[in-house]
Amino acid sequence: MKDNTKYIHGYPVFDETTGASSIPIYQCSTFKQESIRDSQPYTYSRFGNPTRHALEEGIAAIEDGRFATAFASGMAAISAVLLSFSQGDHIVMCKSIYGGTFQLVNEVMNRFGIEVTFVDETDLAEWEHAIRPNTRALYLETPSNPLLSVTDIHGVVAIAKDHHLMTIIDNTFMTPQFQKPLALGVDVVIHSATKFINGHSDVVAGLVITNDEEFANQIVLQQKVLGGILSVEDCWLIMRGMKTLGIRMNQSVSSAEKIAEVLENHPAVKKVHYPGLKSHPGYEIQKHQATSGGAVMSFELENQEAVYTFADHLKIPIAAVSLGGVESILSYPVTMSHACVPKEEREKQGVTDGLLRLSVGIEDTEDLVEDLMQALSYVKVSEKV
Ligand SMILES: *Cc1c(COP(=O)(O)O)cnc(C)c1O
Repeated sequence: MKDNTKYIHGYPVFDETTGASSIPIYQCSTFKQESIRDSQPYTYSRFGNPTRHALEEGIAAIEDGRFATAFASGMAAISAVLLSFSQGDHIVMCKSIYGGTFQLVNEVMNRFGIEVTFVDETDLAEWEHAIRPNTRALYLETPSNPLLSVTDIHGVVAIAKDHHLMTIIDNTFMTPQFQKPLALGVDVVIHSATKFINGHSDVVAGLVITNDEEFANQIVLQQKVLGGILSVEDCWLIMRGMKTLGIRMNQSVSSAEKIAEVLENHPAVKKVHYPGLKSHPGYEIQKHQATSGGAVMSFELENQEAVYTFADHLKIPIAAVSLGGVESILSYPVTMSHACVPKEEREKQGVTDGLLRLSVGIEDTEDLVEDLMQALSYVKVSEKV
């Protein structure tokens, strides 16, 4: 079965008991038992709920994995995965990591004696050199946020296999539509389903997918005892969103490719970071491990004044935190995701005053391009040498 068919038919999409064309929302905390003598499959919704199980089976099918677990947010999913490690364990992580994950390891996990070393994700030698006797896992996120650096998944997986380590990937930006990490040898896939998988900016959710039964059981235990389960309404909304993942992603990417090219050739734009562009340093690796450059890019204008002028004139994309919605979303890392990072450190990371991130929605390409161009026309262009 190909992907678009799978999104609609590849998992339980219909209710078995009534034939209802979508899985019902089982709005219950508990289940009446046939007898108090023995247990039954569903007993209490934190342990398991048919609506949530349908979503979990669905996302497992879509990621070509065997086991999936749904959480109340991407961060709850990441926490469950990382808290399955123990005191004294060490993890190597890409340094361009989601801000929440960074805070989790630096402000919470460190208190439990789980150590993390950050490496330049684009340098395979750094991954290898960071490995110690107590290293348990390599954790990657590619392309990264907000600068879209690309990590060589095959390369990191090969290093992990040499050292008998687990690999974990945050696949939020690519989605299974464009990047299937389990097939590339990665052990655990995490999603903030808040983004493209749900796709409508109306749910916060997280997912963990793996083929490793033992690890899957560990994650189910974490779901049960940490308790960060996804509510049944949200499970239902994500199943609804998932059915259109393919057509949404394809539309967004076809616009993103066009937009990246147009921005790259615009005199007011200093640089475009988009792994679908030939000029991107990770272009070849991206082509090897994913089937597109995705629907997110970032680009640099001259300075903050240019950013404000541009954003004030933009009509279609909404200015907001987050990404992956049907609507295009413009984010300004300086005042949003990186507001807490000191200016010097932020600039060292490449997050300059002129950097903007664009998550391309499913609006008509022509409208998006026209809107971006008219807004850019207000930006003063300094003489280029
Ligand atoms: C948004 C995001 C997260 C966090 O997910 P939430 O659903 O907001 O908890 C993690 N990783 C990436 C790459 C994200 O974009």
